[in-house]
Amino acid sequence: MNIIFVAPPAAGKGTISSLLASNYDYKHISTGDLIRNEIKTGSKLGTELQEVINKGELVSDELITEMLKKELTKKENQKFILDGYPRNVEQAKVLTTLFTKLKINDYIVLYLEVEKEIAQKRALGRIVCQNCGSTYNKYFSECQPQKEGICDKCQGILISRTDDNEKTFNKRFDTYLKVTQPVLDYYKKLDKLKIIDSNQTAFTALESIKRILGVEND
Ligand code: AMP
Repeated sequence: MNIIFVAPPAAGKGTISSLLASNYDYKHISTGDLIRNEIKTGSKLGTELQEVINKGELVSDELITEMLKKELTKKENQKFILDGYPRNVEQAKVLTTLFTKLKINDYIVLYLEVEKEIAQKRALGRIVCQNCGSTYNKYFSECQPQKEGICDKCQGILISRTDDNEKTFNKRFDTYLKVTQPVLDYYKKLDKLKIIDSNQTAFTALESIKRILGVEND
């Protein structure tokens, strides 16, 4: 079953997606990562995207949909996780059309429910490997790297995301409430929505997801 995550910023969708992708052979498609990869190239488009992200706003629907389409058509028969798309009802409708075209109908939408204070602490403590993208957290003992500032997996340097400061987090959270939350109703009506408590650790949320996927004994 393919998975779509809808969640407030720093609810854990990236971490949980990575766990699912490595344990159950999912292709992890993160639209945030697609944008950050473009930024890394230093292109003019990347500079424009960086400005949008730093303001806590959403990138244009047309651009992000184009980026997503490329990834989805590349995935061949592998199951996928969509992490970060759709971010508004318009994108949800586009995705439904795209799924029809690509004959994809086995999917589930997981809403990661989290309190704002917890999400904020996660965002402000998040540190990401510049090289492989692995995520750690300064404020949670179970999420710290073995050596401060260094990635356990590839020895890359750990840095904070430019949009993980208090001001941008608040704006991202407001954007989520205004334009992303209505997506939940859209999928509820399609009977695709499941709610996951993401206030505890990523592993606790993962256990609930495994039950929903029917792989709890794996
Ligand atoms: P994320 O890594 O999912 O937290 O995304 C980081 C930022 O990328 C967001 O705050 C948005 O500015 C942008 N972004 C990611 N996905 C989308 C999307 N589907 N539509 C518009 N902007 C997006």
